[in-house]
Amino acid sequence: MVQTVAQNLEAIQGSIAAVEKNAGRKAGSTRLVTVSKTFPASVIEAALQAGERCFGENRVQEAFDKWPALKQDWPDVELHLIGPLQTNKIKRAIELFDVIQTLDREKLAKGVARHWEDLGRPPRKLFIQVNTGEEPQKAGLLPLEVDDFVSFCRDELQLPLAGLMAIPPVEEEPALHFVLLRDMAKRNGLEGLSMGMSADFETAVLFGATHVRVGSAIFGARTKPA
Ligand SMILES: *Cc1c(COP(=O)(O)O)cnc(C)c1O
Repeated sequence: MVQTVAQNLEAIQGSIAAVEKNAGRKAGSTRLVTVSKTFPASVIEAALQAGERCFGENRVQEAFDKWPALKQDWPDVELHLIGPLQTNKIKRAIELFDVIQTLDREKLAKGVARHWEDLGRPPRKLFIQVNTGEEPQKAGLLPLEVDDFVSFCRDELQLPLAGLMAIPPVEEEPALHFVLLRDMAKRNGLEGLSMGMSADFETAVLFGATHVRVGSAIFGARTKPA
């Protein structure tokens, strides 16, 4: 297992580097977020031992079960929340996560701003999630709502926005969604683009992703529901 995870990580980092080069992008401009949801600490440790330090989890409770202990041993880990955040879990989430990628409504943005003040910590980084495919079952703002929400978060709440995040519809060409997200970020003056997963991270890097979120291509198929 340790060996396989290390090899998979190396292969993915290699593919990212190759696409960056072909696309004329700066080497190292795409950050790999290793998605460890459903996998136990013992498996995550294989990735940590291989040198990986940036991880994504989609549930606050599950992350609390695994990461406080792991972070003690590996204090330079950067942990990203990539799943939906309920307002009653904001406080816990900002205690543990370094980056929240799923900001998608006013109430949540206000809660994050308030709890950050209470914690007296320097604000960390946030991505706004966009439902580029306008899928009813999916979280995220509709594309038409994005510009107003960005100014609300940035100008009124003075939140540290890093960029935009999206999960394209499974049955559509992801490149169209990546371009849409890139254009929205650009017109709002945001640099970060979290897009691309195991099946399409290379396309995402080609279209300018600054963060790709890759799980199964590193750890294998998930047997538990995410
Ligand atoms: C699970 C998940 C991923 C990783 O998916 P893989 O296909 O396993 O790479 C990426 N982003 C989000 C938001 C996820 O929930």
